[in-house]
Amino acid sequence: MIWNWGNAVSLNAYRHRRERVLQALGEGVMVIATAPEAVRNRDAHHPYRFDSYFYYLTGFTEPEAVLVLVGGEQPRQILFCRERNQEREIWDGFRHGPEAAREAFGFDAAHAIAELDEQMPRLLENQAALHFAIGHDSAWDARVVGWLNAVRAKTRSGVQAPEQLLDARRLLDEMRLIKDGFELDLMRKAADISAAAHIAAMRATRPGRHEHEIEAELLYAFRRQGAEAPAYTSIVAGGANACVLHYVFNNQVLKAGELLLIDAGAEYRGYAADITRTFPVDGRFGGAQRDAYEIVLAAQAAAIEQVAPGRAWQSPHEAAVKVLAQGMVDLGLLQGEVDGLIESEAYKRFYMHRTGHWLGLDVHDAGEYKQAGNWRALQPGMTLTVEPGLYIRPADDVPEALWHIGIRIEDDALVTEAGCEILTHGAPKAVAEIEEIVGRD
Ligand code: MG
Ligand code: MG
Repeated sequence: MIWNWGNAVSLNAYRHRRERVLQALGEGVMVIATAPEAVRNRDAHHPYRFDSYFYYLTGFTEPEAVLVLVGGEQPRQILFCRERNQEREIWDGFRHGPEAAREAFGFDAAHAIAELDEQMPRLLENQAALHFAIGHDSAWDARVVGWLNAVRAKTRSGVQAPEQLLDARRLLDEMRLIKDGFELDLMRKAADISAAAHIAAMRATRPGRHEHEIEAELLYAFRRQGAEAPAYTSIVAGGANACVLHYVFNNQVLKAGELLLIDAGAEYRGYAADITRTFPVDGRFGGAQRDAYEIVLAAQAAAIEQVAPGRAWQSPHEAAVKVLAQGMVDLGLLQGEVDGLIESEAYKRFYMHRTGHWLGLDVHDAGEYKQAGNWRALQPGMTLTVEPGLYIRPADDVPEALWHIGIRIEDDALVTEAGCEILTHGAPKAVAEIEEIVGRD
């Protein structure tokens, strides 16, 4: 599957990113390959998804393509891609070919992908450093070593091979962590599509329907609104299934009196949204369900309060844990002082995951969470999820009314100068809003 999303605005955005990389490179070469096509079974393929780093720098969505950025006094942006092929295009669809790709995507030069091994040694001559995704793919590593050896073979003619091998991802991860305006437009669109899909799922839910029927509503809403695909496998987990954090079977019957947890987000032009909502199958929260839900909602509000420039990455998580631990005491799940329960990590029995992750081209997006051993400070342009939860499995020391309650509430936040913007504000989460919508087609 090939998408052609090019327009003048986006092409400038991609070219600008490549220029930033070239500035940071100084003397050196960066080589970024896109993802290979993957066989699903026999001769059927998985839907194609490009490599996020490659796409971030090119906007080019065809497989079998490599970006080479050559730094130095005369920086060059070079694409290697598939050639036009009438026969293959009849079967598989349009290919740009190097010449049209160069022009349409704003490269300085473009060549057939078949020329890569021949051209790379020449491009690496007398360059100080080579940046690539070291260790990402061992076959690719071996190919790069082959190019280096080809350069080294010419040392007697005065040519030098790069002495430094560097992981390209260090530089690119830091860039990807701060989203530019063009990316944020796409992320807002992914968030809007996903929020609308959650509303459709809430409306379609009622006792007797299956989890997969509700998943179908999500997929329909994603595609109908122009998203390529789900950004990750949707979790549609009724009742006790909500306590399985990565539940993906989505095949059970939904029952009155149970909650339904949905963790699903669309991918739009490569950018992910990631939303979780939890609501009653029959549209009315039971007493214990409501108590537990309000605690998670309050934990999320406390965490969102901490999403602001200068706050540590860890601050939203700590704020959520504090509210959740107090809630566990109030519900009778834990006994003791809240500070002590946090210190001893007793709360992890009912809240065992972290409160968020970076979000972008990848649902768990690129970027370090610590710098020099410290949690990094949030900065405007960073995008992250805020997703506290509460998962209560049956046990002798757990009040029976709370058994099998699994709740997570997840939104996507953009750090702004003033604090944060919730990108996924369109998906309802207040008790009254939810009770208004669930089951109302
Ligand atoms: Mg999620
Ligand atoms: Mg998430």
